[in-house]
Amino acid sequence: MSVSIHPSVDGGVRKGSGHFSGGTLVCKCQDKAVKIGIKGDVAHNHACGCTKCWKPEGATFSVVAVVPHDSVTVLANGDKLQVVDKAATIQRYACTGCGTHMYGHIENKSHPFYGLDFIHPELFVEQGSAAPGFAAFVSSVIESGVDPAQMPAIRARLKELALEPYDCLSPALMDAISTHVAKKAA
Ligand SMILES: [Zn+2]
Ligand SMILES: [Zn+2]
Repeated sequence: MSVSIHPSVDGGVRKGSGHFSGGTLVCKCQDKAVKIGIKGDVAHNHACGCTKCWKPEGATFSVVAVVPHDSVTVLANGDKLQVVDKAATIQRYACTGCGTHMYGHIENKSHPFYGLDFIHPELFVEQGSAAPGFAAFVSSVIESGVDPAQMPAIRARLKELALEPYDCLSPALMDAISTHVAKKAA
């Protein structure tokens, strides 16, 4: 049995062009789709197993990346956007028509990732944005209903795709969080 991670990587991870200059994220609505403009390429693109990130129907993981908040612009049908959970650290703006999360914004100025918005690069109309490079919160897929017995196969498939599996974030992002915490404590 082959393990499905996410439709955008199941056939192999497509490399980024290295010079993606930005594009438009479009939701799944046939009518009056929400369109979000993104300037520049995405960073820290990864597969995420947490229960909060939006994933397409049937996917085990989401694919999520960050961009500077200033590079995010609502281009069309922003009146359809609503925050999924106002109490969450990341305010995820979803389309009320199709449920797709269009961008997630951190309001808390003291958060290590303040200034970055979370987006799903698979929603780009354009090709070539930076490819996912690791998998985060892998164990959390069990919370979404994955049989724990499947975990070895899931981790093996992630490694095969060169998406190194981590059970929190990648070492680079964990280091960034701790650096932020250490600076605040100093
Ligand atoms: Zn929609
Ligand atoms: Zn997540």
